[in-house]
Amino acid sequence: MARKIFLAALAVFSAALLLGESARADGRVIKAQAGTAKGRAIQALNAGDFDGAIKILESDGSRDPFDDDYKVLLAQAYDGRGWKRLNAGDFDEAFDDFGKARLNEPAKKFSTYLGLAYCSYRLEHMDDAQGYLDEALYLNPSSAQAMTLKGQIYYQRGRLRDAVSEWEQALQEKPGDRAIQGLLAKARKELGVEGSFTRKETYNFNLKYDGEEDRKLGELVLDILQSVSSDVGSDLDFYQKEPINVILYTRRQFVDITDAPAWSDGVFDGNIRIPAGGGMIDKTALSAVLHHEYTHAVIHTEVSGHVPAWLDEGVAQYEEHWAKKRGAVGFTPVPLSSLDSTFVSMDAARAREAYAESLSAVRYYVNRFGMYSLSQLIKEMGKGEDISEAMKYAAGVSLPEFERDWREDLGR
Ligand SMILES: [Zn+2]
Repeated sequence: MARKIFLAALAVFSAALLLGESARADGRVIKAQAGTAKGRAIQALNAGDFDGAIKILESDGSRDPFDDDYKVLLAQAYDGRGWKRLNAGDFDEAFDDFGKARLNEPAKKFSTYLGLAYCSYRLEHMDDAQGYLDEALYLNPSSAQAMTLKGQIYYQRGRLRDAVSEWEQALQEKPGDRAIQGLLAKARKELGVEGSFTRKETYNFNLKYDGEEDRKLGELVLDILQSVSSDVGSDLDFYQKEPINVILYTRRQFVDITDAPAWSDGVFDGNIRIPAGGGMIDKTALSAVLHHEYTHAVIHTEVSGHVPAWLDEGVAQYEEHWAKKRGAVGFTPVPLSSLDSTFVSMDAARAREAYAESLSAVRYYVNRFGMYSLSQLIKEMGKGEDISEAMKYAAGVSLPEFERDWREDLGR
């Protein structure tokens, strides 16, 4: 099962207020005559046309190399375009823009460093994110937005207590902010359960479990996890950059923390959460669910945009083959478009059919096009292509063609 973690909404930074053909930027007013390159660049910035401004400023052959105004305007334009791209989910491109803004800025600018931090966070370069964020907070120590991101980095690193204290400070700066309140409430609840858990760290995972109760279980899970990242990584051509948190609960704690339906045997919501404690240990079942949830983690690291639920759940179930082969479960086919969003609200019987159909579609895909093609499909979606375009690239067929062929195959 997969649920994506929703981050606090990013505020859109606009370039500084630009009036007529004069611009206020970095504490100075930049003036230019109408019709000159500088004047046209200011006009473009005014209109929010960052591409246009960059084009004019970068290609102006008559520019005076000692005129700092050009650099300031160029930095504004790159910073503005960076935020536009960041809000659209194009993190690689946004990162490049912020980098160019930084090169041109005469003095370090808060919005550029915050942008660099956000991009690094979303691209899973946590050490870089931390570094840029420290710089941003140095430039603007009372920014609730920067504090919120700092809390998110702590949270992603499994440091719940630090995350809570960071978000508490952010809320003091921005009282009543719903997004921060939501993050804080969730983290406090988790801290109540996991505060006393034992923590074990490996290169790829931070594992947390009730050390008193489940010492044996913890050791077994660590053992299984060692192969999970290489198994799934080799299938999906994925190399993990940051450790993933894995938390083992009793069934009661699991329901309390995740609000997952009764039929769920694991969740990925940014962390892998498994109800496994306080009972009999079935090693095969545990291995299957860890491969399954880790696959969700890989897919959601690769693709920051929407992933159809049938693909997400189909691939996750397919990867359980490392633990055990799933038997075929009968289902009455429905269009894949009706399996687009999460299955969590379905009752157990309907969910079972939805999972079975998802697995059937992915199995057909792998049998026909191969595992490498599946990994390419996911990578293309990660570049922002929708699934049908990505499939044309990875398999040479569109989604409707794929669905038609698979249906025909089912009918045989
Ligand atoms: Zn799943």
